Amino acid sequence: MEHKALGLIHKLDETHHLTTEEYLYLLQNRTPEVTETLAALAVRRAKEVYGNKIFIRGLMEVSNICRNGCHYCGISRENKACQRYRLTPEQMFACAQEGYDLGFRTFVMQGGEDSWFTDQRLVPIIRHLKEQFPDCAVTLSLGERSRESYEALFDAGADRYLLRHETADPVHYGKLHPADLSWEHRMQCLQDLHEIGFQTGCGFMVGSPFQTLLNIAKDLTYIEEFSPEMCGIGPFIPHRDTIFRDFPAGSADLTCFLLSILRVMKPNILLPATTALGSIDPMGREKGILSGANVVMPNLSPPEVRDKYMLYNNKLRTGPEAAQNLISLQNRMQSIGYEIAVDRGDFQAN
Ligand code: SAH
Repeated sequence: MEHKALGLIHKLDETHHLTTEEYLYLLQNRTPEVTETLAALAVRRAKEVYGNKIFIRGLMEVSNICRNGCHYCGISRENKACQRYRLTPEQMFACAQEGYDLGFRTFVMQGGEDSWFTDQRLVPIIRHLKEQFPDCAVTLSLGERSRESYEALFDAGADRYLLRHETADPVHYGKLHPADLSWEHRMQCLQDLHEIGFQTGCGFMVGSPFQTLLNIAKDLTYIEEFSPEMCGIGPFIPHRDTIFRDFPAGSADLTCFLLSILRVMKPNILLPATTALGSIDPMGREKGILSGANVVMPNLSPPEVRDKYMLYNNKLRTGPEAAQNLISLQNRMQSIGYEIAVDRGDFQAN
């Protein structure tokens, strides 16, 4: 049994392909030996491409106003208890300046699907950021938009776009989202983003409600085929104001296992040890990196709004998670043999 799983790891390393059934087999046979072998291989492959450098991204949570009603998300339109805010462009530029001075060379604008962010308003913000910080990358994570809108944002200078696919199974998608959101549309957005030329990131939550190991195996097949430049996976963490209150067991370990699979599948992929992973395990970021991740995304949002961008409860927002404490993050990375790079941290093609 273990022998077969080890054989599959070897096959994935050699061919960068497994069938969905084979991914499922690996997930069902996650023994300590399999986990350790996979993690060691993943770290080796990451170091061959990115050395011992960890890329950092300054996360600006630009708005928690959202027109969507994702059942798992704390800033869903359904959450009447959520106090809403939106940063002004001036606040965003100030965040970016602070981040630049700290050593960030990528800014991520993430937010709810806030209708205020029309192309007319976003294009000048992106242009301004790119003019003020010409050596920096701008990543957007603003949800589903039209192809024309994505084109306008790309032409304004945005370099990357994060849009988690959430689940590769349309039936599972339907259980996590209200009827006005469509799996097909989200997948089409990802296609559009990639075709337009963004470095594109998909991804999913680990331990999301109703998720099975077969769902995850299908996610892996989707990622293998789509071949994104980035992939964000992190544990699902319940938010008290949503309908999903149960905490899934073991999602941090499973996340780390999946990070290793993704690294061996796509040695060049940009793979964050996410805030959610750091939030449920104080050593989560370190464990993620020691499983093959090579990116961390500290929070650059103004302190007064940080409490309000609550996708889930107990989200890390201080300590090494705060961009201002980069020294502490640097120390933690050094303690496991890594260094933070002052660099845009682009995807390195072969
Ligand atoms: N609105 C944008 C970006 C913000 S949400 C979008 O839809 O892309 C960013 C990600 O947070 C989501 O893609 C989801 O995977 C994750 N997320 C939302 N709620 C979460 C929860 N309760 N636990 C863990 N991750 C969550």
